[in-house]
Amino acid sequence: MKRREFLKKAGAGAAAAVAATTIGAPAVIAKKRYVWKMVTTWPPKLPVLQDGAERLAKRIEQLTDGRLKIMVYAGGELVPPLGTFDAVSNGTVEMGSSAAYYWAGKTPACQWFAAVPFGLNAQGMSAWFHGGNGLKLWEEVYANFNVIPRPGGSTGVQMGGWFNKKINTLSDYKGLKMRIPGLGGKVVAKAGGTVVLTPGGEIFTNLERGVIDATEWVGPLHDLRMGFYEAAKYYYYPGWHEPGTYLEYIFNKKAYESLPKDIQQIIDAACMESEAWTLAQFDSQNGAALQELITKHHVKLIKFPDEVLNGLRKLADEVVEEEAAKDPLARKVAEDFKKFQKIVGTWGTVSEKAYYDIIQKKYPLQV
Ligand code: CA
Repeated sequence: MKRREFLKKAGAGAAAAVAATTIGAPAVIAKKRYVWKMVTTWPPKLPVLQDGAERLAKRIEQLTDGRLKIMVYAGGELVPPLGTFDAVSNGTVEMGSSAAYYWAGKTPACQWFAAVPFGLNAQGMSAWFHGGNGLKLWEEVYANFNVIPRPGGSTGVQMGGWFNKKINTLSDYKGLKMRIPGLGGKVVAKAGGTVVLTPGGEIFTNLERGVIDATEWVGPLHDLRMGFYEAAKYYYYPGWHEPGTYLEYIFNKKAYESLPKDIQQIIDAACMESEAWTLAQFDSQNGAALQELITKHHVKLIKFPDEVLNGLRKLADEVVEEEAAKDPLARKVAEDFKKFQKIVGTWGTVSEKAYYDIIQKKYPLQV
């Protein structure tokens, strides 16, 4: 009897202990969930760029365990492709994926965060953002628009473009009709060319019909898909005008700051992951696409003569100086960029450059 009573009590005690454990456990409070919209400047399914935006949205959802879900809209699906910045700035959407040079009309200083002719390459840009003052300055420039920027990865050095006329000297640019936007276009105009702005979907037809003599686009991966090898004779390199074009992820300041700190940090970490992923995609897929252009489509690959590059570089210095003179913030960003490029450029000459000079003998370009 005593023993049975004891067991009964013990059982009750154990049950009570379980109950106590449950009550004492950390309270399970449903964490707030957020649903955001991201608009991009890119056409649906554009390799690497639109893919990267969608990948980032998925990663953030995974890493926050579903607390932040981001619906992604390609260019034109919710707002026009170049309406991305305004939509983020005015809070129509919480975030966007684009490239800073599209906003030169709002603030000339933004151009240094995307591409400067004869400026920093992908590695140098990353060093400026994360090791120098680049990201701090970028945040300062965008703060005026209630926007927070995060580097979105680089295309790497782009290609010089597709030409139906050979460029042997700088004077060959005289009268050349070329589709080349941004600061690169201003340099070509200074060299005597006529810059034609053509929407992406019309470039091929214009090149084929001789409306333009030349066009630049991105690199082998994207150029191959556009089929330019069927409309132009020569494929020039390197892309002096976009030596390491950086993409951006942009956030409405109020939306970003209203998130719990841990989600903000997940976003920042996921953006950096995306930055690395993006360059890796360009580097690996461009290599394969270049091979296909050369071997399958027999594209004639030509390097711009040194004389041409040196001439363009002098003109580019003038263009960059004119942009820097537009407002004090542009001047501040330009000065920091210039100082930084000098330092990392010197190091690059004795590190990457010296190494590439040797290793290229192992992988000679076969054209
Ligand atoms: Ca380009």
